[in-house]
Amino acid sequence: MKSPWTLFVTSTSLLLSLSLLPSCSISVGQRTTIEQAHQGQYMSPTLGGKLFTSAWMQRSAEYKALCQQAYNIATERLLAATSDPRNKGKKWAIVTDIDETIVDNSANSVHQALKGKDYEQASWDHWCDLSEAVALSGAVEFFRLADSLGVSIYYISNRDEVNKPGTKRNLIALGFPQVDEEHFMFRDASRSSDKTARRSAVLRSHEILMLLGDNLGDFDHIFDVRDEEKRDESVKVFAKEFGRRFIVLPNPNYGAWEPAMNGGYPKLEEKDAKLRTLLRSHRE
Ligand SMILES: [Mg+2]
Repeated sequence: MKSPWTLFVTSTSLLLSLSLLPSCSISVGQRTTIEQAHQGQYMSPTLGGKLFTSAWMQRSAEYKALCQQAYNIATERLLAATSDPRNKGKKWAIVTDIDETIVDNSANSVHQALKGKDYEQASWDHWCDLSEAVALSGAVEFFRLADSLGVSIYYISNRDEVNKPGTKRNLIALGFPQVDEEHFMFRDASRSSDKTARRSAVLRSHEILMLLGDNLGDFDHIFDVRDEEKRDESVKVFAKEFGRRFIVLPNPNYGAWEPAMNGGYPKLEEKDAKLRTLLRSHRE
C-alpha cells in the first residue's frame, strides 16, 4: 500500500504534467518556465498542498457548485429583504470581501508554489497589478442584481491601497458594479487586517443586509484570534448566522486558520515541520 506521501508526490507530479498540456491546464499566474515547474516536484508539503487545492479550485465542478450555492442563498436573502414592504425606505448595504469571495487568485498560488515559495508581498502586488483574477461562479450576477435593486455594495478587502488600481481594472473588466473609491475599503497604512472599523463605518449610514467572505474574520472580530479552539467555539456561537447574514465561500488554499494552526506566520520550513509533526501525531 502506498504511503500518504507517495500518493501526495504522485498527485503533485500528475498536476505538473497536466499543467504542461495546453488544452488541459492549470493556470499559473505570471510566467513560470518549465524548469521552474520541474523544481516543483520536490516541493514542501505546504506548497504541494496549495498546488493541489489550487487544482481543485480551478478544475473541479464541485468548487463551482459550492460558490454557486453560496450565491444562490445570498440571492434568496437579497430578494426576500428587498421585496418585503416592511423594509421600505431602508438603506441596505452588502459587505463583501474580495479574495476567494468574489474572485479566484489560485493561479498566483500555483505560480508561487512552482517557484518553491509561499505567499510573498511583492509577488502578490504584481499579481494584483496584472488584473487577471477570475470571478467565482454566481458572483457577478449576484452583485449586479443587488446593484439593480439599489443596494450599496462595500468591498472591504485586506488588499493594500497600492493594489487599488489593478483591482479596479480587474473587477470592472469582470463586470462587478460600484467599483469606485466610495465603495472600496482597503487596508489602510496601519496594515491592520481587522475589518471591524470598516464595517462600523458602513453601519453609520446603512443597515448591513449580509456579509460575504471566505475567512471568518470577514464576519466578526471574534474570529481574528490565533486559537483554533476559540475559533471553533465561535462558529457555534454564530451557528444560526451562516447561510443567513453570513455567506461563506470555500477557500481550502489559505486563511486565518493557518496562523491559528501554526501560532503565527513562521517561515515555510517551520510550517512544513509543523505539518509533518501533526501528521506523525495523527498516525501514533
Ligand atoms: Mg478573502
